[in-house]
This record gives sequence, structure tokens and C-alpha cells, in this order.
Amino acid sequence: MSMNFYEQYDERLNGEERALVARADDFCSGGFSQAVLDAFNRGEAFEKSWIDTWAREGFLGLQTRKDHGGLGASYLCKLRVAQVMAEHSFAAAFAINNLQGSVTRLSKTGTDVQIGHLLERMRSGEVLGAPAMSEPEAGSDLGALTTTARRTSGGWIINGTKSWVTNGTIVGCVTLLARVAEGAGEGEIASFLTPLDGDHGLAREEILVPGGRSFRLGKLTFTDYFVPDWCLFNAPGEAFKTSMGSINAARVHVAAMCVASLRAALAETARHGVTRRSFGQPLNGHQGWRWEVAEVALRLEAANALVFRAAAVIEKNGPAVTLAAQAKKFAVDTSIWGIDQCIRAMGAIGATTLHRLSMLYAETRMAAFGDGTSEMLLDRIGKNLAKDYGAKDL
Ligand SMILES: Cc1cc2nc3c(=O)[nH]c(=O)nc-3n(C[C@H](O)[C@H](O)[C@H](O)COP(=O)(O)OP(=O)(O)OC[C@H]3O[C@@H](n4cnc5c(N)ncnc54)[C@H](O)[C@@H]3O)c2cc1C
Repeated sequence: MSMNFYEQYDERLNGEERALVARADDFCSGGFSQAVLDAFNRGEAFEKSWIDTWAREGFLGLQTRKDHGGLGASYLCKLRVAQVMAEHSFAAAFAINNLQGSVTRLSKTGTDVQIGHLLERMRSGEVLGAPAMSEPEAGSDLGALTTTARRTSGGWIINGTKSWVTNGTIVGCVTLLARVAEGAGEGEIASFLTPLDGDHGLAREEILVPGGRSFRLGKLTFTDYFVPDWCLFNAPGEAFKTSMGSINAARVHVAAMCVASLRAALAETARHGVTRRSFGQPLNGHQGWRWEVAEVALRLEAANALVFRAAAVIEKNGPAVTLAAQAKKFAVDTSIWGIDQCIRAMGAIGATTLHRLSMLYAETRMAAFGDGTSEMLLDRIGKNLAKDYGAKDL
């Protein structure tokens, strides 16, 4: 019997959750898998119709409360569903699971009015959501954001530019961070559910990333853009803290998907090592080749174990700052390095359109930025060294 790479997760899921993972697996292993690869090879994003189908299957409500019509799945189940998809495409998994994150946040913390206006439309995929925090001049240093929200009769006027919005080319509502003040650089930060259906004051453009178009990264510029009163999501002074409150879970989510993408690359390489021959034997008959690929398997297992450790702490609301930073940094680095190793071990054919390794490589490279760059994560780990590792009774 072959190993179940995801055993630690799967044994903690209930029967309903295991069935969800199996359903996600059926969806991803069908036409979706080839469609995302074909789109990558054409230099395009995968077709939006796949998101509509995924929504019809109910997956945008994966973690939405059951009394709100959702599936009420646990965090570990959400990770497994994302991993199932990340074995086919990291970017599609990242982007599609980002959509369900917006639905979950609304379900958990929205007001009755916000839920009434938006929840069903977002859960069904009619209105797609995303967080809009980063700006052209505020990335890692998010506190430097300059978008403003000015009070007006019946609502707020938004001015500023948001960049790197996942699914930014297609979203219908963003949760936007802005300073509630007249001038840039002043005022406390609030967040607004911002429907993008206004008929003026919004310019949208795609940020073109070769090999990463399935993220559908967008830049949104708001000029005197009106949002009604009911859209205030986190009050001034609360939004920054709330956004940072979910960052550990987001980091481990990205890490878990990176692990799955590398696992898929390794599986393809391991199979190739049996069928491709050189010097009278299969590639994996050569000790040099085997050692190279074994090193990938070894580091992949280490990444999987670390990511699971961080995920289990998050699942029980434990202290996860350091573990989440470590998991993301290590899983991202390991997947980028490991997929590159796999391409080399496959020979030139590994880099062609016949395999998905070039796609997984291009897509996981982008994982190094969102939810904390590798440098910011190392810094986070470093700042806690004495607290986390300095005790005498470790
Ligand atoms: C695929 C993808 C999806 C994304 N999705 C979203 C989204 O949905 N919503 C959203 O709001 N944003 C999103 N982002 C933006 C993401 O959060 C930013 O890319 C991230 O915050 C880093 O900002 P930056 O890219 O501007 O880099 P910068 O902040 O400009 O950093 C540039 C480089 O300098 C390094 N650096 C910066 N400060 C320090 C320091 N103090 N010490 C050492 N090194 C430092 C960084 O690590 C990096 O290597 C996404 C990004 C990507 C790539």
C-alpha cells in the first residue's frame, strides 16, 4: 500500500469533510486539470466558468456557517481542499480559495445588513470578493497605505489605488483598507466592503505577471468613489489589527498549497524516472539521479510535517506566529527549489507543455510575496528567538 502523504490531516477530518475533499478531488482531476494547464500554455488565466462551477458545487461556502447556507468545514478541511487543487495548479488554488475567504469573513463577522446584502450573492459566485490592502507604495509596510475614506452624507468617499488584488480583474466587491481622514498619511485605518458596481470613479487594470495570469492580479484606482454607510466593515482603528489577526492562518494556507504543488511535481518526476531510460537502464537506476530526487522527497516530507504542525496549532487557536512564519518561509523555498530540481531531473521534456512543472514553478514563485515576503517572515521569526527558543527548560 502506498503512503498517504496527507494522513495527518485526513485522520482529523470527520466523514463529511473527507467526502468534501473527495468531491474536490473529482472536480480537480477532471477537465479542470487540463484546462488550467492549457490556459497557462496559452499565457492566459484559466476560464472563469470553472469558478462558476466550483461555486455551484458549494465550495465558495466551504467555511461559511451552516446556518448561513455554507458547508461549515474546519480549517484543516479547508487546507486539504486547497491542496487537492494545488496539485493541479498553485495559482488556481490560491485564487479560488481566496474567493471563499471573503465569504467566510463576511459570514463570521459581517453585520446583519451586510450579510443580507452580500452573503448569498458571494456564496453563489454571483459577486466575487477579495481583500484590497496593498498599494503601489505600501506592500510589506502596509501601515504606509494612503487610500482615504472621507465621510459624506449617507456614506464614504474613497480615493486611492489598491494593487495586487487577487482576482482583481473579475471581483465584484473588495474589502478595502483606508484611512478615515482628509489627508494621506493621517487618520486611523478602517475597512469597507466596497461593491465595485458604481458607474463612475473606478479604473481597473490587470497587473501582468508572465506565467501567473491565473492569479488575475488587478490594480484598482478609486476616484471620489462612493460607498454607502452599511459598507463599513471594521471601524477606524480596528481594521489593521483584524487583518493581521488572520495572517497566521493565511500563511499556513499558502504553505500547505506549496507543499501540494511540490508533491505533484515529485510524483510526475518519480514516474518519469521509471519509464525514461539512459545508458541501458531507467533513470532511477542511476544512483546520482536517485539521490537528487530523494533529496526533494526528504525536504518535501520535512515541509509537510512543519506545515501540519503549524496548521494543528492554528486549528486549536494556539500561539502560531512563529510556526506560521516558519511554515510559509520553508514551504515556499522548498517548493520553488524542489520543482526546479524536478524539472532538471526530468530532462528537457520536463520544461515543455507536456508537463505541468513549468507552470507549478512559475506559480509557486509568486507565493514568496503574498501574506508576508520571505524576508519579513525571517524577521518575524528572528524577533521572537529569545521568547520561543531561549528558555532553559526547552
Ligand atoms: C500572487 C499574489 C497575490 C496577492 N494578493 C493580494 C491581495 O489579494 N490583496 C492585497 O492587498 N495584496 C495582495 N498581494 C500583495 C502582497 O501582499 C505584497 O506583494 C506583499 O505585501 C509585499 O509587498 P511588495 O511586493 O510591494 O514588496 P515590497 O514591500 O516593496 O518589498 C520589496 C522587497 O524588499 C523586501 N523588504 C521590504 N521591507 C523589508 C525589511 N524591513 N527588511 C528586509 N527586507 C524587506 C521584501 O521582502 C521584498 O523582497 C499579493 C501578491 C502576490 C504576489
